[in-house]
Amino acid sequence: MKSRIVALLVLCLCVSAVQIFAQKAKDKPDPEITKMIKEVSPKNIEATIRKLVSFGTRNTLSEQDNPTRGIGAARDWLYAEFQKISNDCGGCLDVQKQAFVQPKANRIPEPTTLTNVFAILKGTSDATRVYVVSGHYDSMCTSPTDAKCDAPGANDDASGTAVSIELARVMSKRKFDATIVFMAVPGEEQGLLGAAHYAEQAKQAKTNIEGMFTNDIVGGVTSFKNSPFRKRVRVFSEGVPSNETEQEAASRRSVGGENDSASRQLARYVKEQSDRYLKDFGAWMIYRRDRYGRGGDHIPFVERGFAGIRFTESDEDYTHQHQNVRTVEGVFYGDTPEFVDFEYTANVARVNLVALASLASAPAKPKNVGLVTGGLNNNTVLKWDAGTDVDLAGYEVVWRDTTTAEWTNATPVGNVATYTAKSMSKDNFFFGVRSVDRAGNKSPVVYPRPAR
Ligand SMILES: [Zn+2]
Repeated sequence: MKSRIVALLVLCLCVSAVQIFAQKAKDKPDPEITKMIKEVSPKNIEATIRKLVSFGTRNTLSEQDNPTRGIGAARDWLYAEFQKISNDCGGCLDVQKQAFVQPKANRIPEPTTLTNVFAILKGTSDATRVYVVSGHYDSMCTSPTDAKCDAPGANDDASGTAVSIELARVMSKRKFDATIVFMAVPGEEQGLLGAAHYAEQAKQAKTNIEGMFTNDIVGGVTSFKNSPFRKRVRVFSEGVPSNETEQEAASRRSVGGENDSASRQLARYVKEQSDRYLKDFGAWMIYRRDRYGRGGDHIPFVERGFAGIRFTESDEDYTHQHQNVRTVEGVFYGDTPEFVDFEYTANVARVNLVALASLASAPAKPKNVGLVTGGLNNNTVLKWDAGTDVDLAGYEVVWRDTTTAEWTNATPVGNVATYTAKSMSKDNFFFGVRSVDRAGNKSPVVYPRPAR
């Protein structure tokens, strides 16, 4: 009896040692990322926001050839800014304008040229794997088709555009395994048009975008300075994939998985990394694709099968969004810079940074992860394709209780392509697999599909 208790105790200690090991490995920060966190500058972010506001309006339908007012002036300034950052890193960025003519649409009365502006930091060992971080540089006042009114758009979305620029500046001084695209798009207020064009081109070219972040309204509006949610940024992620097939839906209805899309795993990854690196600020997971009645530039990406998430301030003040600048009965309306908290935006940039740097340093996600359903027994068999990353060390199998929101357990399984979790029924837990490199960098988790 006594020896059985001792054996049981030893077993328990072993299991928790494995879990603690996994936990500790997660907690060890990469010193280079810690350095980059400190380099993110609220002053630079403020300067970018004020510059974008100075163009009067950035409505997608506004002037394109006036050097001081309208969306064309903003486009050219952003291009020059990315170019300047590239010059500072010996031409390390490939800066591009992706122009296209948007035909008439709901909020496009006449065919209009839209121009996405972006800077590509090419990966060193896995350049075809891409992460995109984006903000929309267009703005609107009360009417989305009013191209003349002042539409400062300081928070919506000069703030998100400033995050792209600031991350380009800080991250371009380093090298990463995978490619990062720092982007600013127009046409968001006209129906997510710039982002949709980029996502469609990427789909046609079979570009492997493993993650897309949109930062939209990340100014931390000052009216909520004392909010209990102040030290967080909301991270919106869909549970059920927008591009789910009928067959996948049938499988999900049968055995669950509505909380485990690739976008949801990406959001969990962001939370893990921000918990690992940042003390006084973090990711607030919101388990929905977007807010009620609202959309964002991640949507055209998730609709095309790319993992995509949205960052937005924790509290929104609607008197400072999509408003003609005016005062009515003593209430000021308008999206002007004095309501933006540049420190808050810098913190959002840091959340993006720690996640992006970790993603682009880590190996690719494991591919074709399957959970073997044949044979009724109480073991869980997972299998996947062996990865090809040059610094791949192996894999971790993760699991959690089916009612738990985030992954709670992880165990390293070595450089293998299959793993059996003994005496753990696939019916009783959710499982996943992630890749790990020799430095300990981890990919997001992949949730398995039923396999034979
Ligand atoms: Zn917006």
